[in-house]
Amino acid sequence: MERNYFDTISEFEKQLESTQLQFHALKEFVAIMVEERHALQQENAHLRQRLDEILEKEALLEKKQEKKLNKSDVGEGYDNLARLYQEGHHVCNVHFGSSRKDEDCLFCLSFLSKQNI
Ligand SMILES: [Zn+2]
Repeated sequence: MERNYFDTISEFEKQLESTQLQFHALKEFVAIMVEERHALQQENAHLRQRLDEILEKEALLEKKQEKKLNKSDVGEGYDNLARLYQEGHHVCNVHFGSSRKDEDCLFCLSFLSKQNI
């Protein structure tokens, strides 16, 4: 009878030790998970920042390209008007389209010089 009690107590002690080991492993697992979560949060914040920077750069580039495009439109318009003037037509708003009859027109020249800026 007494022997039986000792066996039972010894068995219970083993179970407690095993449970303690499991508990320790669980604690380590939780610590690793918390660390990983922290690292992921930091990486996420870092990536978000990089994305913002890239988007900002892209928007700037787009704006620059838009400006360039507008400039070349103006340049092309100017070239067309200058050619029209060279071909002997008025481009000023006073006589637009009519023939210059080989005379320089101050209105045309001032208009073209303004456009050239
Ligand atoms: Zn003119």
